[in-house]
Amino acid sequence: MNNYEEKFTKAIENTFFKKLSLDEQDFIKEKAKEFKFSHQDIKQIIDISRDLTLWDEGNIIDIFPSYEHKKAILQKIKKEYELLKNKANSYNEFTPHNISSEQKFTFKVQEKKGFGLGLCPVASEKTRCCNLLTLDAVESCGFDCSYCSIQSFYNQNTITFDSKFAEKLKNLQLEKNKTYHIGTGQSSDSLMFGNREGVLDALFDFAKNNPNVILEFKTKSDNIKYFLENDVPKNIIVTWSLNTQTIIDNEEHLTASLDKRILSARRLADKGVKVGFHFHPIVEYEGYLDEYQRVYEKLLVQFRPDEVVLVSFGTLTFIKPVIKQLRGRDFKTKITQIPHIDASGKTSYPESTKIDMFKSAYEAFKPWQSGEDKVFFYMCMEPHELWQKCFGYNYSTNNDFERAMLSAYAKKLDMEFLL
Ligand code: SF4
Repeated sequence: MNNYEEKFTKAIENTFFKKLSLDEQDFIKEKAKEFKFSHQDIKQIIDISRDLTLWDEGNIIDIFPSYEHKKAILQKIKKEYELLKNKANSYNEFTPHNISSEQKFTFKVQEKKGFGLGLCPVASEKTRCCNLLTLDAVESCGFDCSYCSIQSFYNQNTITFDSKFAEKLKNLQLEKNKTYHIGTGQSSDSLMFGNREGVLDALFDFAKNNPNVILEFKTKSDNIKYFLENDVPKNIIVTWSLNTQTIIDNEEHLTASLDKRILSARRLADKGVKVGFHFHPIVEYEGYLDEYQRVYEKLLVQFRPDEVVLVSFGTLTFIKPVIKQLRGRDFKTKITQIPHIDASGKTSYPESTKIDMFKSAYEAFKPWQSGEDKVFFYMCMEPHELWQKCFGYNYSTNNDFERAMLSAYAKKLDMEFLL
């Protein structure tokens, strides 16, 4: 191996070079030698080429300019890359590729250290947050949403159940004179595995024995069998993460369709179970506002406000490990093809885009924002100042937000609100 070969081999260590096509590999190797690219230059060019392939936007060979000077070449490549990141995506000609039609995972049952109850893993004082407590009933998820950060925490192909979950839940000591809001559905989907390992039995018993707990099951599934066959304690709410069918088809792989999710919510509401809807993430693409508007209108037609506890809005926020994880996957996604503006240490859309998506969403639900049965609306994990700009009001602290949320939920569930 000659000196240049050695240098280049070193430069591509811990990069996605091997994930690129052979043509791209040869091209980058040749250009790196011709223009004496630094290790940093080579890594950046590899990441850019990987992203273009993921986004189905060609590759580095397509945007590499025929200039003579390295600096001008790198500037041009970055400019082209930024243009592609900042343009509104289109799913018209897009196909996700390599998405298996069935879930492939193994189940594991073992005693877990500790007990997965804690503050919402993405809660922060930098954003207006509701102080949700999350309960990890199951670890890892059988769905495959491209934007999901769970994938960077857990082994995706193994679903783990805590053999002592029911016992730990039974022994959990909570203050009796305080209202709690506890959600499952952060570390896995709350309904997709049904009552496997007795998880739903344990959670229903927990709700019955702790009438001061508002227990939220969050899901993208239509597996409501257990809820139809069993008495559902009144302090349980079931909430669906909804999205447009375009995003479900292209980015929320293996999950239930929009109509199946809405029908499942309708069937539980018919049984008197209070439901809710999370639009998170709202994703920008050509024509997205109209497509989301049609989903909002569907809910306004199919549900009465007294049946619905909450509607929340949120959007894409990325941490570096998830972006890296996605670059390593063998599928196509447009989910990281966004401007990646800094958002409290993560990256997301610019404020103007967020105002477009959240203001139009909130205004669409005007009929549910007044009267005795009004629904509670909130934005998840967004900066304080965005509330005033989108909702016309704000909470001065996260505790105020939490209090407003829990008292609204308790009222809708006909529970006493204990401060
Ligand atoms: S607003 Fe969202 S991120 Fe913040 S604590 Fe609540 S659920 Fe978690």
